[in-house]
Parts: sequence; structure tokens; C-alpha cells
Amino acid sequence: MKILVINAGSSSLKYQLMDSVSHDVLAKGLCERIGIDGRLTHKVPAKDLKKEFEIPMPTHSEAIQSVLDALVSSEHGVIADVKEIDAVGHRVVHGGESFAQSVLITEDVMKAIEDCIPLAPLHNPANITGIKACQSVMPGVPMVAVFDTAFHQTMPEKAYIYALPYEYYEKDKVRRYGFHGTSHRYVSARAAAMLGKSIDQVKIITCHLGNGSSVAAVDCGKSVDTSMGFTPLAGLPMGTRSGDLDAGILQYLMNKYGWNIDEALNVLNKKSGVLGISGVSSDFRDLEAAAEKKEHRAILALDTFNYNVKKLIGAYAAAMGGVDAIVFTAGVGENGPETRMAIASGLEFMGVKMDEAANKVRGKETVISAADSKVKVLLIPTDEELMIAMDTAEIVGK
Ligand code: AMP
Repeated sequence: MKILVINAGSSSLKYQLMDSVSHDVLAKGLCERIGIDGRLTHKVPAKDLKKEFEIPMPTHSEAIQSVLDALVSSEHGVIADVKEIDAVGHRVVHGGESFAQSVLITEDVMKAIEDCIPLAPLHNPANITGIKACQSVMPGVPMVAVFDTAFHQTMPEKAYIYALPYEYYEKDKVRRYGFHGTSHRYVSARAAAMLGKSIDQVKIITCHLGNGSSVAAVDCGKSVDTSMGFTPLAGLPMGTRSGDLDAGILQYLMNKYGWNIDEALNVLNKKSGVLGISGVSSDFRDLEAAAEKKEHRAILALDTFNYNVKKLIGAYAAAMGGVDAIVFTAGVGENGPETRMAIASGLEFMGVKMDEAANKVRGKETVISAADSKVKVLLIPTDEELMIAMDTAEIVGK
């Protein structure tokens, strides 16, 4: 099947046309500046081709139409007719407690995604806009929603409940949801395959370390805990996000500087994390360059990040009563050998032994622990688009 994968943001839209059998990416690209002017970047990997166009995109509908035009173009297209697209898979950030799996989009599903808007006010409206635009431009083509939160719906109550008055869970749905679920699901499945075991026999800790970062405990294929929470602000310090924090700090700083809650959250979301500590950058490459020059705050930012990932690995091994494999994925996890080594070193007590030479690798599916390491350490490039395409093909094929 040919599946179009769509990841719609408020003013941008990423797409990939994939073959669900061969897993080939036929074309992919990005629409930017939707609602402003409009720019399309279109790539055809098999031909090593990249084209850029300025196309008016007052709304997401024109953006989708420009994607379809590019896909069928006689010059840089990859299909003869839009009818060759069998289905569309949409990334949707928040499915609340309504969705533990990907689903075929119906009117009821759209309503449930709309009901989740208060839980993800920045993301779900953009995802909904993307779905509606596709429906208007491609009527009759089946569409599937794949949720970032769905994989973590298997967490037990004790892992997702916050120690607040229970009414805020019952009435207001305040609980840990977790994010990056499609990535954690994909890499944990790949990890089991690499270990040559069935997913329901293994305990895996998946470390999705990118600009946004989260760790998950995956016990026999089920997420049993994860570090992001009610929102993606929780857990690890990230590129610019603070991660977990004593809520009392908010009151203290808001009183001291006269911030309102939006100003305070802006600091927590955009000015904190490794950027906040280092004062240098949110990009780990810049931090590593500054650390080489012995800049204390850059070293401290990297140390703090690594220390927090290490602590979570210990916590999740305890939560699962053991661990068979630790997986590193996403921008930093796939491309940062120093980060991986710093996180894994000191975990020898729990059976982790890295292979320094094997770890000197980027972006390739491989084992980076020593042959006699009790716990296997794996580098697995994530592929959320493939997971979305596979779910879509499976649901539509039924
Ligand atoms: P992501 O959000 O998954 O796209 O990851 C983005 C992060 O990956 C950024 O902080 C980059 O610094 C980091 N990254 C990408 N390439 C490298 C690299 N070669 N070495 C270290 N970090 C990298």
C-alpha cells in the first residue's frame, strides 16, 4: 500500500509517502509558513532530488494540495495519480484516555480528538486542521490517527497518578500521559527483534534523547512508566525545557519578578534545560564544543542531563525488577557517543558494560555494549513515520 504520513503543526506540515510493504520512502518534505506565504521543500530519496518552491498557502488545504501536486508532478513526482494513495496516517499528539491504539478517523474520533484540545492546546488544533485539510482535498480516502500518548496508556495507576486531590484526576483528567509513544513503541519492538526475542519476554528501557527527551520503561511490550507527564514539560531537562521542578520555585520566582503564569511557563519551556544552564545553546553539538573549551556551564549542562537520564534508567530497572536492554534513540541518542557513554558508565553494578569501539557510531542500528554485557545496550534510529504508515496500512487493510 502507498501511505501518506502527515505531521501537521500550526504553520508547518511534514509529509512522507511510504510503501508499507517495502518500507521505502518514495517522497518526503515540508510545507512551511502556512498562513503567512508558503514554502514547499520536496525530496525524492531514490533520485537524491531536492526541490524548493514558493507556493501561496493561506491554509493547510493549499499546503496539502501543493504536496499532492508535487507527488504527481511529471518532473519530480513519484506517482501517476493521487488515487494511488491508499490511505493517510496522521500524527496526533494527544489522545487523552480515549485512545490506547491508532484508530480509523470517523466523526466520533474527530470529536474525541477535539475533546483533548484542553490537554494539548498548541498541538491538537494543528493536527485537527491537518486532518480536515486532507479530508477536503482527498475525499473518500481512509485516514488513521496515530497518537503520541497511546502507547503509554498501559501504565498502571500508581505510575500515572499525581499525588494531588483525587478529584483533579476524576474531574479534570490531570494525570501522567507521556509522549513520544510512537518512538518508544517502534524502538522497543526493534530492540526485541535485535535480541532475537519475542517482545513479551523482555524488559527494555528506551531513551528518546533529542531536543525533547523522554525515557520509558517497556515491560513485555507495554509502557509501564515514562518521564514526560501531563505535558511534555515534565521529566528530563531538555534542550530548552526545564523538566521536573519543585512547584514552589514557580511561586518564588513569580512573586520576585512579577511574572504572570504565561511568563513563568515561557521561561520553563523556552529558556531552561541545557540552554538555561549553559547559557550557550540548546544544541548538544554546541554544548560539546563549549565543553571541549572547558566552559564550566556547558560541562554542567551536559553532566546534569546525563545524570538525570542515568537516574531514570536506575529507577525504571527497579520499577520493572530488572532490564534486558537499554535503547538510545533520537537526535542526541543516535548521534552522541559521548552522551551515551557518560550515561551508561557507572551502571556496571547492574550489568551494563559498554564496548567503546562499537559505541563510536552514529545513526545506525547496532549493539554498543560488550559481548559479555548482561544488559544489552542498543542504538536504534527511531522511525515514527514508518510506525504511522504500518499502523495505517494495518487498520485500513482490515
Ligand atoms: P531531535 O529532536 O531528535 O531532532 O534531536 C535534536 C538534537 O540532536 C539536537 O540537540 C542536536 O544537537 C542533536 N544532534 C544532532 N546531531 C548530533 C551530533 N552529530 N552530535 C551530537 N548531537 C547531535
